[in-house]
Amino acid sequence: MLIVMHKDATPAQVARVCNTIRAMGLAPHPIPGAQRVAIGITGNKGAVDTGRLESLAGVLSVIPVTQPYKLASRETKPEDTVIDVNGIKIGGGSIAIIAGPCAVENLTQAMTIARSVKRSGATVMRGGAFKPRTSPYAFQGLGEAGLKILKKIRRATGMPVISEALDTDNFQLVESYVDIVQIGARNMQNYSLLKKAGRSAKPVMLKRGISSTIHEFLLAAEYILAEGNYQVILCERGIRTFSDHTRYTLDISSIPELKRITHLPVVVDPSHAAGKRDIVVPLAKAAIAAGADGVMVEVHDRPEEALSDGPQSLTLEMFREMVGELKAIVRASPRRGLRPRS
Ligand code: PEP
Ligand code: MN
Repeated sequence: MLIVMHKDATPAQVARVCNTIRAMGLAPHPIPGAQRVAIGITGNKGAVDTGRLESLAGVLSVIPVTQPYKLASRETKPEDTVIDVNGIKIGGGSIAIIAGPCAVENLTQAMTIARSVKRSGATVMRGGAFKPRTSPYAFQGLGEAGLKILKKIRRATGMPVISEALDTDNFQLVESYVDIVQIGARNMQNYSLLKKAGRSAKPVMLKRGISSTIHEFLLAAEYILAEGNYQVILCERGIRTFSDHTRYTLDISSIPELKRITHLPVVVDPSHAAGKRDIVVPLAKAAIAAGADGVMVEVHDRPEEALSDGPQSLTLEMFREMVGELKAIVRASPRRGLRPRS
């Protein structure tokens, strides 16, 4: 259910509607728009008594939301969500370029990569401190020491940093160091972690599970939104198919489909999808051409010595060239032409 307020509704009228929704045992989610405020309602098991809400001052209309992902849906919020991370905009037509190593290995490695990718046009630095590895014997990340390195990188370069929170136990620690908290593909349906992320004041990047449908992906995002954190970035990172020539299969068609259904920014990670560096750049270009709001790629100064995901890490030089190619694609494809709904 969605309440659409009059263009000239006052903040007091919006507050009164929110209080009435709360008094009905439901949760209000005010959504400011360019023209007017809308208020999403969650928490109802069955039909909502709309009569009580329709008669309140300032209410223009009460409309049902047909999608189960009420807050993530464009029905609820037609305008793109734009997330501002220390002045860097993600969503709404600008292209975010998130780059860095799979894992933070040491200060010199991370700082060398950060300075180089920044010079080449990266807007956000990535680097895992807590790594979800398939093998328990593989490098698991530096933990808090890695987060401390990321903090130094932000101070030295001014770039916001993103790193993954692996579980509810380390969420708070990660959140306290980074600008964007990443929730990995393996955790897309870790509902207690999603709820925790929903109570965070930091933006969250949610990666698509390797066997998740778009429907499940958006409902996972809805868990975060429903707790009150509206700063959610979706990340398509490839899904598992029968195709075995790449690590995963990048679902390019999910990009325009997500952009049609949801107002949330969509960033694409071609590195984990490809598994080999030669395929990363063409996939990144395809993602931007298909309407993605940005890419996240793994970059390493010495990929052959990387402690994780070396084969799919771009060299510093490859990254620099890729940014130039992505910019050319943005110039050649007006973003507004990629928006399916007016
Ligand atoms: C990552 O980005 O470091 C990562 C582990 O990715 P994913 O969760 O998509 O496998
Ligand atoms: Mn990786």
